[in-house]
Amino acid sequence: MPKEIAPRNEMPRQDPRVRRRNFNEVALGYDLETALAEAERCLQCKKPQCIAGCPVQVRIPEFILALREKDMWRAVEVLKDKNSLPAICGRVCPQETQCEIQCVLGKKHEPVAIGRLERFVADWEREQGMRTPPLAPPTGKHVAVIGAGPAGLTAAGDLAKMGHKVTIFEALHAPGGVLIYGIPEFRLPKDVVRAEVEYVQSLGVEIRLNTVVGKLYTIDEMLKDGFDAVFLGTGAGLPMFMNIPGENYNGVYSANEFLTRTNLMKAYLFPEYDTPINVGRKVAVVGAGNVAMDSARCALRLGADEVHIVYRRSRAEMPARAEEVANAEEEGIIFDFLTNPVEIHGTDKGWVCGMRCIRMELGEPDASGRRRPVPVPGSEFDMEVDTVIMALGTQPNPLVFSNTPWLERTKHGTVVANEENGRTKMERVWAGGDIVTGAATVISAMGAGKRAAADIDAYLKDPNGPWWVGPE
Ligand SMILES: Cc1cc2nc3c(=O)[nH]c(=O)nc-3n(C[C@H](O)[C@H](O)[C@H](O)COP(=O)(O)OP(=O)(O)OC[C@H]3O[C@@H](n4cnc5c(N)ncnc54)[C@H](O)[C@@H]3O)c2cc1C
Ligand code: SF4
Repeated sequence: MPKEIAPRNEMPRQDPRVRRRNFNEVALGYDLETALAEAERCLQCKKPQCIAGCPVQVRIPEFILALREKDMWRAVEVLKDKNSLPAICGRVCPQETQCEIQCVLGKKHEPVAIGRLERFVADWEREQGMRTPPLAPPTGKHVAVIGAGPAGLTAAGDLAKMGHKVTIFEALHAPGGVLIYGIPEFRLPKDVVRAEVEYVQSLGVEIRLNTVVGKLYTIDEMLKDGFDAVFLGTGAGLPMFMNIPGENYNGVYSANEFLTRTNLMKAYLFPEYDTPINVGRKVAVVGAGNVAMDSARCALRLGADEVHIVYRRSRAEMPARAEEVANAEEEGIIFDFLTNPVEIHGTDKGWVCGMRCIRMELGEPDASGRRRPVPVPGSEFDMEVDTVIMALGTQPNPLVFSNTPWLERTKHGTVVANEENGRTKMERVWAGGDIVTGAATVISAMGAGKRAAADIDAYLKDPNGPWWVGPE
């Protein structure tokens, strides 16, 4: 008899009427009983498609089976064999477009909630106290990792397990990259990030904070001064603007600045923390990715009466995770689709007081495959707003490239690197994550960190052979 499939287990969440004014985590996690019930839904496929959807190839059915058998340490071990940051991935990975979209069950029913199970196992481990896995004997090689985001932390963790000495250089005063300065507490509690960073440190990785590479040392100097290899994982933290009149008024923020002040500098705990942030009554967030959703939801929690997402395309083209769009809508964020700002208005004192927009319609698909937005002539109108947050995308910060002209870059400012192994055009320098792809996802950055770590290890054991294999 075919197995009867129970419906997917819902994740309990804070009531939207309450959570729209607090920074506590929105999704509350499964309890053991619910996790076991969800694990029971997995078919334990002989040819599991879910693994192919995971950029770091977690052995998903195996960890779910261990959970089902209540062998929790085994579940942790299987998860962490491929993923050193599972509590983070369980919360922010776009599972709906990766492992879960491939899940066989999804063809006729709802897919297994793989991300929620991953989160459950990782949270269980954190509550018990994390265990450090066995490390390979020391190799005597020393690797520098620049940037303590998901790419750098993953590369560092894997290299440490392989027996290499690893030092991470991080510009900010806290490790985690976007996980600590960008993604808000209500989606990813910082205790979770700190615990997973501590796990990487427990593998012997040293993290040097407040160290801007490119200012204090160049990559060349690091290679000359004793590092055998350098991994670049500095992300894409440089914000982009629209270059429209009025963008310099007070009250216009880049999403990066707004989120960094709110999350890393803890403006939401002002005056307990010494970071003021000025959020008006009516806020417009321009863009519709995860960064825009996070900015809009933070603005609401910081006291705005009305927050708009202003997006030049339609709902169907929104790049944000569906779950986060639904959360934002439940909390009362207003979506203005097919709308594009053309000018920001300001008062005599230089503060934002409005935004002129134009209506758009969708034309033929562009290079991104999405339908190109085209302005509707004569459709301009004014929005009354006093804060504008630009969440239009980012590119790599060029600081790290100081005095390394031989590190080839694309016209978008990203580093040219071999996708398979992370090698750049500069010998003994690897790169991965947003610095190579432009703004992408946590798990794709981790995948790149893993591939680079494997190649660095292979190179350090046998540095012969051509360095760059691929197109010139
Ligand atoms: C607000 C926001 C929300 C997001 N939400 C999601 C989500 O829900 N799901 C998802 O999968 N992805 C999400 N992303 C994208 C994801 O966070 C990134 O793709 C990922 O963090 C990239 O990892 P990375 O390691 O390449 O870079 P980063 O996380 O950017 O880390 C780079 C690190 O390098 C440091 N650095 C930079 N320059 C230097 C230098 N010169 N010297 C030393 N250190 C330096 C930076 O301070 C930073 O700590 C979001 C991004 C943002 C901004
Ligand atoms: S594809 Fe879905 S049902 Fe099959 S093993 Fe993976 S998670 Fe389980």
